[in-house]
Amino acid sequence: MHLPVSNALLTSEEGWRQNPIPGQAGLQYHDGRDYGCPGHANQSVFAMWAGTVVYDMDNYEDCKRWTDARHSIGNFVTIKSTIAGVEFFIRYCHMGKNYVNLGDQVNEGQIIGAYADVGQSNAPHVHVDAYLASNWQKVSIKTLMEG
Ligand SMILES: [Zn+2]
Repeated sequence: MHLPVSNALLTSEEGWRQNPIPGQAGLQYHDGRDYGCPGHANQSVFAMWAGTVVYDMDNYEDCKRWTDARHSIGNFVTIKSTIAGVEFFIRYCHMGKNYVNLGDQVNEGQIIGAYADVGQSNAPHVHVDAYLASNWQKVSIKTLMEG
C-alpha cells in the first residue's frame, strides 16, 4: 500500500465528526480518510494499490454548472484494485486534475492526479474511500489500509 500523498497528514479520520463546512454545522459520518499537506494545493495523488481506472470524472467545471460547488466531491478517480484477493473500488476525491483515463492500468504508487480545494472542502486535500466491487457496499478504507 502506498500513501495517497507524500508527507501526508491525515487531516480527517473515518468516523463521526462535526461537519467542517461553514454553515453546515452538525454531526456527520465521514466515510473515508482525508490526506493533505497543509498550505499546499495541487500536490500529487498516488494510487494506493495497483488496478484499473473504472471512472474518471474530470469535468468538474461542467459539474459546477448543475450542482452547488460546495456540495460535491469535485473531480474524482475510481480505481478497481484487488486487495488480499478481493476486488474493491477505491475512490480518490477532491481532485483538481486527473492524469489517468478510463481503462488505464495503474501501478501502486503511480501519480494519478493532483488534489485541490474543490467540492465540499475547506482546504486542499484528497478524500479516499472504498467499496466492495461486487455490490458497491461501503467498506472502511482505514481497515483496508491497516489490514
Ligand atoms: Zn473526506
